Amino acid sequence: MVDRHAYPAPRLFIDGEWIDAGDRDTLPIANPATGEAIGRLPVATRADLDRALDAARRGFVVWRAKTALERAAILHRAAGLLRERADEIGRLSTIEQGKLVGESIAEAQASADIFDWFAEDARRDYGRIVPSKQPAVRHLVVHEPIGPAALFTPWNFPVTIPARKLAAALAAGCSVVIKPAEETPMSCLELARALDDAGLPKGVLNVVFGLPAEISDYLIRSPVIRKVSFTGSTGVGKLLAGIAAEVMKPTTMELGGHAPVIVFDDVDIDMVVRMTAASKFRNAGQICIAPTRFYLHDRIHDAFVARFAEAARALTLGNGLDPGTRMGPLANPRRVVAMEAMIGDAIAGGAALRAGGAKGDLPGGNFWEATVLSDVPDSARIMNEEPFGPVIATQRFETIEDVAERANRLPYGLAAYAFTRSAAQAHRIGEMIEAGMVGVNFPVLTGPETPFGGVKESGHGSDGGIEALRGYQVTKYIAQGYL
Ligand code: NAD
Repeated sequence: MVDRHAYPAPRLFIDGEWIDAGDRDTLPIANPATGEAIGRLPVATRADLDRALDAARRGFVVWRAKTALERAAILHRAAGLLRERADEIGRLSTIEQGKLVGESIAEAQASADIFDWFAEDARRDYGRIVPSKQPAVRHLVVHEPIGPAALFTPWNFPVTIPARKLAAALAAGCSVVIKPAEETPMSCLELARALDDAGLPKGVLNVVFGLPAEISDYLIRSPVIRKVSFTGSTGVGKLLAGIAAEVMKPTTMELGGHAPVIVFDDVDIDMVVRMTAASKFRNAGQICIAPTRFYLHDRIHDAFVARFAEAARALTLGNGLDPGTRMGPLANPRRVVAMEAMIGDAIAGGAALRAGGAKGDLPGGNFWEATVLSDVPDSARIMNEEPFGPVIATQRFETIEDVAERANRLPYGLAAYAFTRSAAQAHRIGEMIEAGMVGVNFPVLTGPETPFGGVKESGHGSDGGIEALRGYQVTKYIAQGYL
């Protein structure tokens, strides 16, 4: 019987070897539900990074030489292990990240689906033959793996975000050096363990931790690395994309969002509240595609806000491992400080507080109540900066033209949602919104088979669908005649 709170010592994984902290520097790891220290994370030294890069260089030669079928067999085996181990991965993930353990287990299972899907996608990665102007020549267009990739992933979905990037990179034939978030190391290390146990050749995957700015700068500038993929805030994304541009390396940037939710006056209010409250408060709102700015038709605004506030008040805060908990803590104390500042600013600017608005009354952890703010002015910080927490801000609208303009007014363009029973309105709003992903009468946008990414300052490239595989490939044209 596993001790519910047991948490192993995280290690580095380099060139197929699991490496303990030894005499390296370490960083503290805390349980966000209790504030307790649960472990120390080894910081990779320069020599560790050089070893990881050299392993990735050698690993790429081995891995790219495998057929797509051979690669798929290993990725499918890893997927099977993730399914078998989902309960244990979920437990570890909740201890370090805070979300409900059911959500963490679902994340591990979703990661298995991601590996399965990319394994098969790469098997169907057809090139093309272009008709030639000359006889006896063939114009071949083929996709080749781009080379060793440097991946940087955050703490909010500590299993599925690394899984999306790893699955696409490995399926394409790339080797990888990944730096997951320092707050949540075990979640990604469990992915590495599954891949290692599944028979991934040594050197193909390397996992390092440390000071994010130092590691990212060093890896991106290394001549070994050919591709950079990052998920996190727009500010850090711009920094990393800037470094990558200096050395002319392509990037996938999955950055911040500020999803508008447009609710017309012809909907079943209870149903839309149920759907949007569930996706808002999942993972305590720490989701880049979380519904945030609620533009509610003037005729339904007050009724919608009243029901949404009831749904928010019904969420019991607590440790994600406890069965009675309906919303866990925020991942780190910085998020609590951010909530306090943004919500205080909105109220000072004239917004009405309809639910929540305070720290959770629980000892130790980083708890914040599910919060509803109505009639929030555009000048409030929360209408302009990503809150990344359990809070919504509402405004009223009357016409589709006006609401589309307001929904599009921010530099973000990741996810957007709209709810209406009118087919014409659904069609129009889907086209009018500037976002990489639009959920019309549907709040879930996260399958491995569909594109996942933003436009404008929410980034570029995709972490889902066939577009994700393309991000780890180069296109080569071969003109082939015969003598
Ligand atoms: P942050 O911007 O400091 O860090 C975000 C992520 O980037 C973390 O995982 C961090 O380890 C990493 N990071 C930071 N600096 C880096 C660097 N120089 N090189 C490589 N990686 C680096 O913010 P935070 O306080 O951890 O999170 C708060 C904000 O980050 C949120 O408001 C949200 O906008 C954004 N965020 C977005 C996502 C997402 O899914 N798009 C996920 C997590 C955080």
